[in-house]
Amino acid sequence: MNYNKKTVSDIDVAGKKVLLRCDFNVPQDKETGAITDDKRIRAALPTIRYLLEHNAAVIACSHLGKPKGEWKEKLTLAPVAERLSALLEREVIFAKDIIGPDAQSKAAALQPGQIMLLENLRFDIGEEKNSPEFAKALADLAEVYVSDAFGTVHRAHASTAGVAAYLPAVSGMLIQKELEIMGGALEHPKRPFVAVLGGAKVSDKINVINNLLEKADTIIIGGGMAYTFIKAQGGSIGTSLLEADKVEYAREMLSKAAARGVQLLLPTDTIAAKEFSRDAEPVCVSTMAIPDDMMGMDIGPDTQKAFAEAVQGAGTIVWNGPMGVFEFPAFAEGTKAMARALAESGAITIIGGGDSAAAVEQLGFADKITHISTGGGASLEFLEGKELPGVACLMDK
Ligand code: AMP
Repeated sequence: MNYNKKTVSDIDVAGKKVLLRCDFNVPQDKETGAITDDKRIRAALPTIRYLLEHNAAVIACSHLGKPKGEWKEKLTLAPVAERLSALLEREVIFAKDIIGPDAQSKAAALQPGQIMLLENLRFDIGEEKNSPEFAKALADLAEVYVSDAFGTVHRAHASTAGVAAYLPAVSGMLIQKELEIMGGALEHPKRPFVAVLGGAKVSDKINVINNLLEKADTIIIGGGMAYTFIKAQGGSIGTSLLEADKVEYAREMLSKAAARGVQLLLPTDTIAAKEFSRDAEPVCVSTMAIPDDMMGMDIGPDTQKAFAEAVQGAGTIVWNGPMGVFEFPAFAEGTKAMARALAESGAITIIGGGDSAAAVEQLGFADKITHISTGGGASLEFLEGKELPGVACLMDK
């Protein structure tokens, strides 16, 4: 996979109409529809400002939620246009349709230095189906395509990939940063390269483990997924999360690591509890001998120490998935210790979106991390080494 892609500063955008794919899929209040967190809108501002300052006419577009090709008033992007306008301190023209007469006339009249936003792309079934007609109609609104929605680059939709068949296609600054840092870490990591994996399921991360076994020097496995590995080593895991059909796979990964000389670390002690609840009493036990009526909820103090030592002196650390049920304070210590160890490591630290990003932010370590990916699913597929359609479609440098 080539990560060396042209970006906005590699082309001339002055006087051009630019179709800019953003990720404005913001969380909303279920009752009122109010935007509850505008981080994703703020994240798009650098590229938008760059384009406007360089005299482009910006036609922004995004999806919101899952309307599945139906026109759902609750999922209109109108509130996003309003918030974007407030953040930019300038007018954001809102089109009441996507490729219809309103969008077409407003796009035609749009002047350099002006910005408009199209209605929710997923109101049209052609978006997720990557219909060539829909992609062509989107492309016809503009002269250049800029992709800055990293959260959707693993999807081959009309606005994330299809449209690039009809327009010169480059990345915005958000995607450029993701490619530089994550692509750089995977292609030529500063060594030792340590991967920290956690979260609930082995099955979600099978391809990540497999790919990283080829690249990393050390792999640390915590969280619920660790217990399938402990089972594979002959441990008793009580009622901990187990994917029985993945025990054999875990065994294979343990042998592959040994054969390749990759250090694979698993928890040696566990904070267990009798039930999966916020108020459950935490008890520290050996991971290999969890009592029959208990489940592992977090890594124990010895493991925290061992994992923290393993990342000391690392050149690059990639982390995806919490070390325990961090949503319950009594079982958040392992994830907190890992976040602190990354923050203090001095390494290039990369957090692959989703729950681990939320954990690092919630625990207050976000500003000590080199890069927190803006895409959960996309960053996982990145770590799997998969070709991302929304990146592959951009012009090579
Ligand atoms: P993932 O989306 O796969 O990264 O998983 C994140 C989820 O894994 C979080 O909601 C955690 O609460 C959960 N998790 C982490 N460790 C455990 C564990 N030991 N048992 C059950 N769930 C866990």
